[in-house]
Amino acid sequence: MKYPFSRILYGGDYNPNQWPREIWDEDMRLFQKAGINSATVNVFSWAKIQPNEETYDFSELDAIITMLSENGYDIVLATSTGAMPAWLVKRYPEVARVDYEGRRHKFGQRHNHCPNSPVYQRFARELARRLAQRYAGNPHIACWHVNNEYGGECFCPECEKAFRVWLRKKYGTLDALNKAWNTEFWGHTFYDWDEIVAPNALSEGIGPEKTAFAGISLDYRRFMSDSLLQNFKLERDAIRQFDKDTPITTNLMGTYKGLDYFKWAKEMDVVSWDNYPAYDTPWSFTAMRHDLMRGLKSAPFMLMEQTPSQQNWQPYNSLKKPGQMRAQSLQTIAHGADTIQFFQLRRSVGACEKFHGAVISHSGSEDTRVFREVSELGAELKELSGLIGADSPAEVGILFDWDNYWALEYTSGPTIDLKYVDQIHQYYRYFYERHIPVDMIPMDADFSQYKLIAAPVLYMVKEGVAERLEQFVSAGGTLITGFMSGLVDQSDNVHLGGYPGPLRKMCGIWAEEIDALAPGQQNTLRFPGGAESKCSLLCDLIRLEGAQPLCTYGEDFYAGTPAATKNKFGAGNVYYIGTQPEPVGLAKLLDDAVSAAGTKPLLDEPTPLEVTRRVKDGKTYWFVLNFTGSTQPLPACFGPGELPPFGAKIFCK
Ligand SMILES: [Zn+2]
Repeated sequence: MKYPFSRILYGGDYNPNQWPREIWDEDMRLFQKAGINSATVNVFSWAKIQPNEETYDFSELDAIITMLSENGYDIVLATSTGAMPAWLVKRYPEVARVDYEGRRHKFGQRHNHCPNSPVYQRFARELARRLAQRYAGNPHIACWHVNNEYGGECFCPECEKAFRVWLRKKYGTLDALNKAWNTEFWGHTFYDWDEIVAPNALSEGIGPEKTAFAGISLDYRRFMSDSLLQNFKLERDAIRQFDKDTPITTNLMGTYKGLDYFKWAKEMDVVSWDNYPAYDTPWSFTAMRHDLMRGLKSAPFMLMEQTPSQQNWQPYNSLKKPGQMRAQSLQTIAHGADTIQFFQLRRSVGACEKFHGAVISHSGSEDTRVFREVSELGAELKELSGLIGADSPAEVGILFDWDNYWALEYTSGPTIDLKYVDQIHQYYRYFYERHIPVDMIPMDADFSQYKLIAAPVLYMVKEGVAERLEQFVSAGGTLITGFMSGLVDQSDNVHLGGYPGPLRKMCGIWAEEIDALAPGQQNTLRFPGGAESKCSLLCDLIRLEGAQPLCTYGEDFYAGTPAATKNKFGAGNVYYIGTQPEPVGLAKLLDDAVSAAGTKPLLDEPTPLEVTRRVKDGKTYWFVLNFTGSTQPLPACFGPGELPPFGAKIFCK
């Protein structure tokens, strides 16, 4: 496999097909000047390459690839199947999706194909095959980029049929399926596979986010994620027939809900993703997403897209301030990226992304702030190629799981305010602020490599997980979990016998009831020694079964009862946090857990700067970044000196 790359790929989406030829030469001159060494091409060119069902015309793409090859660029070659040509939808209307409301779409937009349409599959595979056959021998092709930002869902008759096949394979018998989905409730028992329909707004769906039967809706999400993954594999395998060793990826979207990225990553040679934080996204949240993308394969990743300046599709598209693009790019590398790529290199003249930032603005001038900053970063990254492939060692793992993401947010009650990623982030932020490196890990990770595992809202405990967590704790590990954990099995049926179900024994508690607090309502956490902190959202009413209370509720009829506990289990400890404390209260509890686990921060001196490291061949690359908005002194171990807002320094020791 031709991965990792020999240099940090620096470039991004390049669409010369949207421009006259005389602009191409100017592009080459400007890219060279900016230190750009890579271009992602052919992302949305299907209609150009295949003007009708019978004709393929690669002449323009040939010219683009030849130009880039002659100029020594690393080419990220996309397959173009992320947006269908109009003739395809006109001739075969079934390739378009049926949406959640049951409406068959017409031609338009992108990411709009039915994943189970045999016609779409045939044409997409053929396009990928022809591209690979034509360009596989070119040594400048650094990476294949299949489709683009897979996502969305389809509820058409083809998908419905394929869903039944998927279900038969999973359950074998209708008895098993009826039991898993608890169809006895409301008398929804199925006696024939053909009675099962796609659970959209016309069926079990209650708005796009809720469902009357989580069992079928969860399975549909799994099925849809698998269906789109099949599309990816179809193209990947077509490429592999002709190209044995160039890495193949598709660009993911961080915490995007629709696809089980841990499952996807197993099929990808390298993870790549598109990072588009909003103007008010916390930096810890962006760091968490990077760590999640690194966690997918437990390996460095590609940053396939970010904007050099501005986005267009958010409600408010702020400019990146001077230095921000650099700091954000270095944050990306600090958390495991080996490439920095932009969307896009030249700003579009029309359609919905014409105001999306680009390296070259509508002025066409190189005399712009953005172009200067891009060029400066280009020069800087040349010096950093030594860290390609470097590790990001961590003693803490935070469990992230798409089944839990889907199931927790489908559940009806106890509160509509439960958001999976937000809950995970509250824990992540604690470690981020204390410079304790974190791996975002899947359920099937090797737990034994961590000292501490945090599993907030571990709502769904699938087969074998509780046993593996028990082993981890017995062997001396520290586990943190809490409210809305251990409640259901893989089909969203409750683990009977008292909450938190299979986690009850190791937690040493029984959560008898769960109170929901409406917006504005709070309770108080009382700690031994008199400290207090507020909590909200949910309050578990906890009965001790061997665990020690760490704090108690201050109000309501359950005042004085435990709100968080610690239980010795084997050689380790389990912390159960039965409510959502404000950050200072959560920190008190997690400080205790970190100390029990013996987990060390990267530096002892407190600092509001972001401090991260990557390690390779005995060399440590330290990244010190200032996202605080004001000038900060460097920690003594890196000082003397200070960092201005968006200042960023790399120390190599
Ligand atoms: Zn469909």
